[in-house]
Amino acid sequence: MRKHTMGLLAMAAASALALSACSGAEVGEPTGEDTAAGGGETIRIGIKYDQPGLGLQEGDEFTGFDTDVARYVAEKLGYSEDQIEFVETISANRETALQNGDVDMIFATYSITDERKALIDFAGPYFVAGQDLLVAADNTDITGPEDLEGKNLCSVTGSTSAENIKNDYAEGVQLVERPGYADCATALASGAVDAVTTDDIILAGLAATEENAGKFKVVGAPFSEERYGVGLPDGSTDRCEEVNTAIAEMIEDGTWEELVASNTEGADYTPNADLNPPEQDACE
Ligand code: GLU
Repeated sequence: MRKHTMGLLAMAAASALALSACSGAEVGEPTGEDTAAGGGETIRIGIKYDQPGLGLQEGDEFTGFDTDVARYVAEKLGYSEDQIEFVETISANRETALQNGDVDMIFATYSITDERKALIDFAGPYFVAGQDLLVAADNTDITGPEDLEGKNLCSVTGSTSAENIKNDYAEGVQLVERPGYADCATALASGAVDAVTTDDIILAGLAATEENAGKFKVVGAPFSEERYGVGLPDGSTDRCEEVNTAIAEMIEDGTWEELVASNTEGADYTPNADLNPPEQDACE
């Protein structure tokens, strides 16, 4: 009896945790820590908190390719790991976070686009992904975006993924927008949607979690090029040059390849070798 009660309590605690993790992702608020805490200059880096293998909050730890690239670049800029403050930047809030000075840099599967470049600066790219579809493991009728007519599709507000669907495939597709891709994966698991769309590397990471094991598959027919840049406030040409130098070194010294391998381990994913590792754009 006693054991049983404890089990229920533990379950209640776990679901409370899951709920608070969820609402954090939706609100997209900073962690609440004082930026200047502990003295010494810190750098505030925007990342995703709910993208396994890219940017993931696990207790006090932040894991994934974006967080590892961020640590490497920050070190080259003179910031040790304990001078980094990671802040959650959901897709819809990234430009605003840079414009308001809430973060100094963003490493968050952030595609370089002309629309975004009108508001902020980008260094990079440091990776090139492609937009793809995630479906139930036993799905056979969705093999590409042209099969989406009459289907419910989930993507994320403020992403190029949602934008590309609206621009090129809107007809007959019921697009559901959520704050993050983990929310979309939940909708797919419950059958509320037929597919999720975003970058293949994000989908592969979601499909490979313990929780989702065996449930989903990535269709594997990418239909865009998503060049991941480092978001910087408008007018950051010098900082952009420094970041590009760091990225070029990271590729040159073999770290890039190691970080791709370690962060996609267990996921069914191979980067497009024709596009990776990429050359960095000139800073404007
Ligand atoms: N790379 C795309 C974008 O920047 C999709 C992934 C994301 O939302 O972070 O919008």
